[in-house]
This record gives sequence, structure tokens and C-alpha cells, in this order.
Amino acid sequence: MKLILLGPPGAGKGTIAKALMKHDGSVQISTGDILRAEIAAGSKLGQMAAAAMNAGNLVSDDIIMGIMEKRLNEDDCQQGFLLDGFPRTMPQAEALTVLLGKMGIELDCVLLLDISNDVIIDRLTTRRTCTNCGEIYNIKSKPPKVEGICDVCGHDEIVQRDDETLEAIENRLQVYQDQTAPLIDYYQQRGNLVKSDSSDLEDVMQVLQTRCLKQ
Ligand code: ADP
Repeated sequence: MKLILLGPPGAGKGTIAKALMKHDGSVQISTGDILRAEIAAGSKLGQMAAAAMNAGNLVSDDIIMGIMEKRLNEDDCQQGFLLDGFPRTMPQAEALTVLLGKMGIELDCVLLLDISNDVIIDRLTTRRTCTNCGEIYNIKSKPPKVEGICDVCGHDEIVQRDDETLEAIENRLQVYQDQTAPLIDYYQQRGNLVKSDSSDLEDVMQVLQTRCLKQ
């Protein structure tokens, strides 16, 4: 599959991408994960990206396009790729169209996870993460078995991430509205947008199978 996953933060793009990878061997490409790995490695690119990321702003289009051109040319992408968190601005979307044209690649479709702000805010403000092993909980739908203790590693610090406070989420939703939502029209006009108003894997598969993938 060659897909772009579009949708607000917390819509479930990463979860869907991981499930689809198992389905047909396509690779998930998350620009957020690539940037975090560059920061952890202390690379020059990581240093350039860190300031913008820490401030909750977007990293520059030039840096992102440099990363993506290199990544899409790697061998594992031939089987298919699931773009998660990219493109995120109009210049990135336009540059991607040019890049894919140059590479002779056609997308199957752009999948929009059309999830309302209320659902996103509820989902993200109730999310908690173990500071030791990264296991994710939800105080409403998936609390740890013993309050405050991680089921997986037994650690006793299960916290709300800084970028999952109400204020931070509202800022991320605003950035999405301003910079990324215009891509919905762009892809609709190009004729390859499909929408799912649910982030359940079964519902998403149904949409992909009936409206996107050529049998
Ligand atoms: P989220 O979807 O929760 O915002 P991501 O892991 O996708 O998280 O991204 C984390 C941060 O990395 C973003 O807030 C932004 O600073 C940066 N980033 C990721 N992808 C892009 C992109 N395509 N363009 C610009 N910045 C990006």
C-alpha cells in the first residue's frame, strides 16, 4: 500500500499505520519518530529540529523534505509505505507530489481520519504513559490493574505527557487547523482522498478495501 495518513494529532494515525504494516509489509514512515531518533543521536539535523519541536512548532519544510527524499529512496519502501505525520503543510504536499512524480510512484490514496476535536481532546487528556517503559494507559478505558503501577514493568510513575495537557493539545489542534487541514482540499481536488470517521482498524480496513485499494 502507498498511503498518506492524514488527520489531527491523536486521530490514531500511528496505531493504524502499525496495524497496516503487519497486513501487507508496507513500512510506516513517521517524521516525528525520525526526528526524535535524530535528536537522541545528537545529530546536526536533530539539533536543528529540537528547538521547533520543543516549542510545539513545526520543523522547517526544507529539513522535512530532505529527510523524506532520502527515506523514500530506501529499498524497504518498494513494498509500500504509510506516511504518518507527513506531509503536514501545503509546501510539503506540493513538494511530495513533485518528488513522487520524479520517482514514478503513484499513491493508492490519502486516508483522512476525520475525528472531531471533542473526541481527540477526551482521548489525549485521559492518556497516561509509564515513564520507564513507555506503556500507554487511559484512565477511562485502560487503567493500570493497580492504580499508579505499570502492568508491564512495575514502575510507579505513570504520567500525563507535557504535550498531552489540555493547553498543549489545543495548541496542536490549532496548528493542525492552520497548517495541515488545507491539505484535505488539495487531495480532494486531486481525487485521491478517502475518509473514515472512525479510527477502529476494522472500519478503516473497510474504507480502504471498498474505496481505495485496486483489487
Ligand atoms: P504529533 O502528531 O503528536 O504532533 P509527531 O510525532 O507526528 O507528533 O510530531 C512531533 C513533532 O515533530 C511535531 O510537533 C513537529 O514539531 C515535528 N514534525 C513531525 N512531522 C513533521 C512534519 N511533517 N513537518 C514539520 N514538523 C514535523
